[in-house]
Amino acid sequence: MPPKLSQAKLAEPIGQTYSWLTITGFVEQLPNGHRLYRCRCECGNEVEATWNALKTSMRKSCGCKNPPKGMANRHKDLAGKRFGKLVALQLS
Ligand SMILES: [Zn+2]
Repeated sequence: MPPKLSQAKLAEPIGQTYSWLTITGFVEQLPNGHRLYRCRCECGNEVEATWNALKTSMRKSCGCKNPPKGMANRHKDLAGKRFGKLVALQLS
């Protein structure tokens, strides 16, 4: 596969799915150089997101799958504590 072809494909990721978002169309190139795309979330909502945000998993859904940042950390802490307790119980 020629490298130029794959680069061209990367520049137009329409139809590709990132997490819960499928890119359905190009919207515009933003002044900061990022490309803004229209995406359809798995839940049916349509949102606009930059490809950069999609690629880096900063944007995974229309918002329906994204827990608030503080909440995600709390879940992580809770999971760790639960696991620790379970191990301790099994040992004793
Ligand atoms: Zn959604």
